[in-house]
Amino acid sequence: MDGKKDPPTASSGHPMETKKRLGKKKRNRDCEEEPPTKKKSPCIISDPTDSHRTTPKKLDNNPRTGEFPPRPMVREVTAPPRLDHFIFHKELGSGSYGKVFLASHPSNGKHVALKIVKKRLLLEDSRRSVLVERRALEVTAHSHVFTHCYATFQTEDYVFYAMEYITGGELRNFMDRRAPCDMETTRFISAEIVCGLQYLHGRGVIHRDLKPENILMDTTGHIKISDFGLAALNIFGNKKMRDRAGTAGYMAPEVMCMNPYNASVDYFSFGVILYELVVGRYPFYKGGNSARIRRSIRQLQYPEDMSSTIRSILEGLFCKSCNQRQQFCDAIRNHSFFEGVNWEEAEEGILCPPYIMDPTPADDYNETIPLDVVLWEEEEEDKSPISPEDERLFCGFSFTSHKWR
Ligand code: ATP
Ligand code: MG
Repeated sequence: MDGKKDPPTASSGHPMETKKRLGKKKRNRDCEEEPPTKKKSPCIISDPTDSHRTTPKKLDNNPRTGEFPPRPMVREVTAPPRLDHFIFHKELGSGSYGKVFLASHPSNGKHVALKIVKKRLLLEDSRRSVLVERRALEVTAHSHVFTHCYATFQTEDYVFYAMEYITGGELRNFMDRRAPCDMETTRFISAEIVCGLQYLHGRGVIHRDLKPENILMDTTGHIKISDFGLAALNIFGNKKMRDRAGTAGYMAPEVMCMNPYNASVDYFSFGVILYELVVGRYPFYKGGNSARIRRSIRQLQYPEDMSSTIRSILEGLFCKSCNQRQQFCDAIRNHSFFEGVNWEEAEEGILCPPYIMDPTPADDYNETIPLDVVLWEEEEEDKSPISPEDERLFCGFSFTSHKWR
C-alpha cells in the first residue's frame, strides 16, 4: 500500500472512520491477581507473577544412613525483567499503539525487541482489552510461526513486551524488494501463514490485523506472525464477532460493515497478502473510503496472465460470505496451489525457504538511547495518574517465560 503504514483500528464507529480511540467506557474484566498495593519505586511496579519461583524445601537426612534423599527437581529461578535492566540501542519500529526498541539485557546477554505501549492509550480504547495481546502471546508461545515473548512487565504508565528479536525485517520490506515473487516463494510464505492461522483459529484466536507489516521474517526467511494487539480470544464454534477491528485495506468487507464475522476474516487478509506477493501490487482501491474499498473488492479484476490455480485460491479467499470462505479455507491445504507442500514439515518449521534473505546490517550495540527518549511523551497528553480502578485492569499482566534466562 504505497509502503505507507495504515493504522489499525479497533472501534465501534462508522465504517468511514479510519481510526478512533474511544473515551473511557465501563469495563468488565476479570482480575486475576491482587493489584500491587504499594509501589516500590516511583517508576517500577513490582509485579512478580512468575509462577516459576519455587523455594527449595529444606531436606532432612535419613537418621539411619545419614544420607540425604535425592533433591527434587527445582525449576530454574527466572527473575522477571525490569525496565532499568535494559540498555536501548535503536528503534525497530512503531505502530499506532506502541514503539519497539532493540534492547539488550546484560545480565543474561539477551537481545530483545522491547515493545512499549502506553497504558493510557490502551485504557482510552474501550475495544482493545488491555490483556488481550499478553494472553494471545501465551497461546502462541509454543509455535515457531509466532514471535516468542520472553516476558511482560509494567511500570505506572507503560506496559512492556520483551520479544524475541526478529532480524530479517517485515514482509512489507521483503515484498518491496522482491514482489512479484515466483511460485515457490509465494507458496512457501503462504504455507507458513496458513500454518499460523490454523494454529491460532484452532485455539480460538482471530488475529484481525494480518498485514505485511505484522509479519516479520527471520534471517533464514521463515515468517513470524506478530502484533496481537487487536486479536479476539475465545472464539470457538459458531461464535461470531461484530466489532470493527483491523487495518483498512486488509479488513474483510464484513468487518468494515460490522456484520457478524468469524475467523475467516484472517483468510481475507491473507488473500490480500497473497495477491500482493504474486502480482506485485495491492489489489483494491487504496484510499481510506470504505465504500470505495468495498466496491473495488466486488469488482476486482484479475490480471489476464494469472494462472487459474492462483485465481481460484484468491477467489476462495475473497469470497463474500464469511461462512463459505471458512468452508473453503477448512480444505485449503488440499488446494492445487499448495500441491507438493509437506505440511508436517511446514508445521514443524523445517521446510527450507526457497530463497536467500539479504544480509542484514550488523546492529551497533555500543549505541545507546536514553530512557527519556524511549519513554516518549506526546505534547497534549493527559499526564494525570491512572486511577486505582483502571490500574486494576492490568492485574495479571506480568509474566516471565522459562526461556528468559
Ligand atoms: P500496529 O500499528 O500494527 O498496531 P503496534 O503498535 O501494535 O503496531 P507492532 O506491530 O507490534 O506495534 O510493532 C511495530 C513494528 O516494530 C513492527 O511493524 C516491526 O517493524 C517492529 N517489530 C515489532 N516486533 C518486532 C520484533 N520482535 N523484532 C523486530 N522488529 C519488531
Ligand atoms: Mg503492527
